[in-house]
Amino acid sequence: MICEFCGGNTFKKKVKKQHWLRGELYIVENVEAEVCAECGERYFHASILDELDGYLSAEHDVKEKIQVEIVNL
Ligand SMILES: [Zn+2]
Repeated sequence: MICEFCGGNTFKKKVKKQHWLRGELYIVENVEAEVCAECGERYFHASILDELDGYLSAEHDVKEKIQVEIVNL
C-alpha cells in the first residue's frame, strides 16, 4: 500500500506493538503490519486488530511482565 503521510511504499513486516484493551496495556510481538519504507509509519489491518483483541480477551500465554513508567514532559 501507499503511506498516507508521505506517499512512500509500505512493506509487510512483523512488529512489536503497544496495544490498549479495556484500560490494560499490552506489548504484543510478531504482529503483522505494513511499514512505510520512507517514514516508518505502521499500519495494521482491522482484521489483525480484531484478532489481537480476541486473543488478549481469551486465556493466553504471557511471555514476560514489565513495569512501565508514566511521566509528564
Ligand atoms: Zn510514510
